[in-house]
Amino acid sequence: MLPMTQIAKKRLLMTLVLLVGLFVTLKLTYWVHWHQGTLAIQTQSERQLTELVNFLNAALSRYESIPHVLSTNPMLANALKEPQQSQNIHALNLYLEEVQHITEASDIYLLDALGIAIAASNWQQRFSFVGKDFSFRPYYTEAISGKLGRYYAVGTSSDKRGFYFSYPIYHPGSQGVLGAIIVKVDIADIEQQSTSMALAGQYQFLISDPENIVFIASVDEWHLTSLTPLTAAKQEAISGAKRYAERTIGQLQITPAYLDNAPRGNALYHITKGREQAQYMDTHQWMSRALWRVHILTPMQPLNDALPGVLLLAASIYLLLALSWLFSAERRRNLQRMQLAHSLLEQRVQERTEDLQQANERLKDTQDELIQAAKLTVIGSLSASINHELNQPLAALRSYAQNTQTLLARNMQDKAQDNLKIMIELTDRLADIVSQFKSFTRKSQGADSATDLARCITQALTIVKPEIDKQGIQLDVELPNDQYQVWGDNVRLQQVLVNIMSNAIVAMQQSLQRKLTIRVTAADKFSIRIQDSGPGVRESQMEKIFEPYFTTNERHGLGLGLSISQRIIESMQGQITVANAPEGGAIFQINLPIYLLEERLPQ
Ligand code: ADP
Repeated sequence: MLPMTQIAKKRLLMTLVLLVGLFVTLKLTYWVHWHQGTLAIQTQSERQLTELVNFLNAALSRYESIPHVLSTNPMLANALKEPQQSQNIHALNLYLEEVQHITEASDIYLLDALGIAIAASNWQQRFSFVGKDFSFRPYYTEAISGKLGRYYAVGTSSDKRGFYFSYPIYHPGSQGVLGAIIVKVDIADIEQQSTSMALAGQYQFLISDPENIVFIASVDEWHLTSLTPLTAAKQEAISGAKRYAERTIGQLQITPAYLDNAPRGNALYHITKGREQAQYMDTHQWMSRALWRVHILTPMQPLNDALPGVLLLAASIYLLLALSWLFSAERRRNLQRMQLAHSLLEQRVQERTEDLQQANERLKDTQDELIQAAKLTVIGSLSASINHELNQPLAALRSYAQNTQTLLARNMQDKAQDNLKIMIELTDRLADIVSQFKSFTRKSQGADSATDLARCITQALTIVKPEIDKQGIQLDVELPNDQYQVWGDNVRLQQVLVNIMSNAIVAMQQSLQRKLTIRVTAADKFSIRIQDSGPGVRESQMEKIFEPYFTTNERHGLGLGLSISQRIIESMQGQITVANAPEGGAIFQINLPIYLLEERLPQ
């Protein structure tokens, strides 16, 4: 067992390890989530950007060749050569209007060499371009210098955002430039279609010029705002170029500061959209022909929104795994402890069993010794009369032997022969008595067998008979003629009977009338009644006489006889009781089960 402080320390360490593990798991999950998320966004944004740029290129390309085609029409050169021919100009206006309708361009107009519009598809409109000076527009300068011009700007007359394509009109048959034909495309249409694409792709987009002014965007608020800080010099340059007409350029709320060359995937900006500020990943591409920088702004919100759930899931899985690991470790430990305790217990039980077996054997030996000692005590108390019983035939033998000597000296062979017969009988009797005592006093092996009750009583009587005779006790014995058999140790049952009979002899010592009655009856059990004519047992001592060491025979008694007798009878499944006869004297009754041969098989 570990001391308390050590357990507390171990628990604290475990909690710390768990917490550190949790922290590492969360950190790792966060990193993987962000890394994978941004990678996925980046890949998707690049694909969407390519789609958008392709779409924009295609949209502009539709109009790119129109000025070139128109420039080949002699109507245009003629009109430029003779601008005063109003009929020609009128016809040209109608022609340009028709082409504008067919091509769905915003406006188509013809500029003379000075940049003044002499014919326009919108000649009938309120904001007709006819007569307007466009010489300040770079598309004019480009065309006049013999090149295809591309330009985007807010129309000064229409106030609409447009993309302009220009082409020079050459003098027929020479290289001289007469003027320029301009096709203006309404940017709003392209923007609307691009916005639909952005909506479907769940991103925002914006298109900025080389000055980082947002020209086209999926969010209205972003129109004509600057991505980079607007300095006074920059503002002056913008208004000088008149690209954005009279429109004021605002500042886009973007943090951190916008960088054209931010590394891919790292360009994360917070941009104000409506009233809210949202985080976007910026992926952009430069369109060199249009001089546009197209930006895809993918919101990071979904990635942010998913983060708590992902962290919670990771934490739950981690805790589940950690707890199940702890649980299984604890279970393993408990199992080991239980196995150890079990084997210890088994070992102890085995040791205790061995101890008990040894103790039992010792006890059994002690009991046997005690039984033997008690038996020898009874024999001891009977020794005087037994001595007498042996001396009598010995003395008779001696006198018969002397008598035989005399008879042989007188040559009285026949009488000597009779004497010798008697002597042999006496010797046999002596041998009988000795063998009886020998068998009674030998130490019993405790081996049970079928025992004849009448024979057992007779043998017991042989032991006490000398004393009975000595005390002048009248013996009244009635034994059954039938073979009554009990199961037990013959010598031990004899010991019980000898003990009870010798107690009776002692009890009758002071009685005038001395009689010992023995009866055997058989009903559902055998019953042996041994009754004496002594004073009986005092009522107060009825229970006590079976207790060990209870005796009233201070001189010769050990007080063990009855308690051992009770044990012996109980071991034979019987009972021993005592009562006083109404006429006086004690009655000891032994009940024993009837033994029927077929009932018991050898064990
Ligand atoms: P012990 O004979 O050594 O005294 P027992 O256990 O045989 O031991 O007897 C215990 C006591 O029981 C005796 O001392 C005696 O007081 C009493 N007792 C036994 N048998 C008789 C009897 N037949 N009549 C009267 N008392 C008896």
